[in-house]
Amino acid sequence: MFCGRSESQVGFLLTGIDSCICSDCIKLASDYVKEIEDQNKPKRSSSKADSKSISKPKEIKEFLDQYVIGQDRAKKLLATAVYNHYKRINHNLDSGADDGVELEKSNILMVGPTGTGKTLLARTIAKMLNVPFTIVDATVLTEAGYVGEDVESILSRLLQECDFDLEQAERGIVFIDEIDKIARKSDNPSITRDVSGEGVQQAMLKLLEGNVVNVPPKGGRKHPEQEFIHVNTQNILFICGGAFEGIERRIAQRLNTQVIGFGATEKQKIDKNNLLQYVAAHDVRAYGLIPEVVGRLPVLTYLDALDRDALLRILTEPKNAILKQYAKMFEMDGMELIIEDGVKELIVDTAIKNKLGARGLRSICEQIMNDAMYEAPSSRKKTFNLTVEYAKSKLEN
Ligand code: ADP
Repeated sequence: MFCGRSESQVGFLLTGIDSCICSDCIKLASDYVKEIEDQNKPKRSSSKADSKSISKPKEIKEFLDQYVIGQDRAKKLLATAVYNHYKRINHNLDSGADDGVELEKSNILMVGPTGTGKTLLARTIAKMLNVPFTIVDATVLTEAGYVGEDVESILSRLLQECDFDLEQAERGIVFIDEIDKIARKSDNPSITRDVSGEGVQQAMLKLLEGNVVNVPPKGGRKHPEQEFIHVNTQNILFICGGAFEGIERRIAQRLNTQVIGFGATEKQKIDKNNLLQYVAAHDVRAYGLIPEVVGRLPVLTYLDALDRDALLRILTEPKNAILKQYAKMFEMDGMELIIEDGVKELIVDTAIKNKLGARGLRSICEQIMNDAMYEAPSSRKKTFNLTVEYAKSKLEN
């Protein structure tokens, strides 16, 4: 016997040619072999391992569904674009990438009213992929030499997000908000911003295209004596968002000319109440984004305005829905939060009345709950009943 014990002392025996081994020794030996194998395995870069296991578009969409209400079209497009993006990175990392097929990067542009979930979508995707993610507001960016932030500061922030792990940053996601605010003025008389719009777009192009960009590590202005970090933006996914207020007019104009072009008999059924769904690259250009930038944002999608029903769902359905968060906080104080029928409707109607959309839901809830949250930790009660009357009284304050 391998370990010298008798048969009665062990679980079972495996018999070899001229000796036996017991089940305990088999297990020990197996663990040992595994340990040695693990030690000898070539270490793969973590980034590649992560991107290898990238979820399929349907799985990404399902994940988004847990956090974002509605916006199905945008979710599907986004999920596919993100999946393709990371598939493309793998393709380029793999040694067999010399097959002549160069997969091009697909940055994304989301058009939709403010507070409809553009940032939330981008943030949720980054959370799922576990990649560095940063949000920048296009309005703070200026052309080099002007007061404001250089476009490179976007990458400084991304680097800061991952403790300056260059490899991680180079496959992160950047969300550029309010891209419509740097539209070219000449094409867009409704915007009274100064000339820097086009300059910023030109500067941004460098990042969108996929270049090696010199980034001042601390952000801020470039300084001649500063050492730069060279960031390759080739595999950074840029998601841009903007409300593009008034773009419907341009869409309508284009659709009208198209209809005339096809002849009056060929009437297209156009849903005039939701023109945004027909948005095309052409409209975004007409709005004032330069053609080069539009060309670098090939995935174009729109977000629906949120109606009453959607707002009601936002209050309760997402995994981290606002009301679930309050319930959790009360629970931590040993209390149950009971919400009377009608309170949700009151919150939503107040948000609609104040024209705050989804963005306003939290502040309204805070207004209602503040006092109760103050009292709850010192209370001996086991429940807190949130009635319509109570909510109304707090909102009137
Ligand atoms: P946008 O970027 O389109 O201006 P955000 O994504 O920042 O809007 O949305 C603001 C807040 O409103 C989010 O943090 C979220 O709480 C809520 N919200 C907006 N749209 C949705 C949605 N479709 N589903 C769930 N929550 C939403």
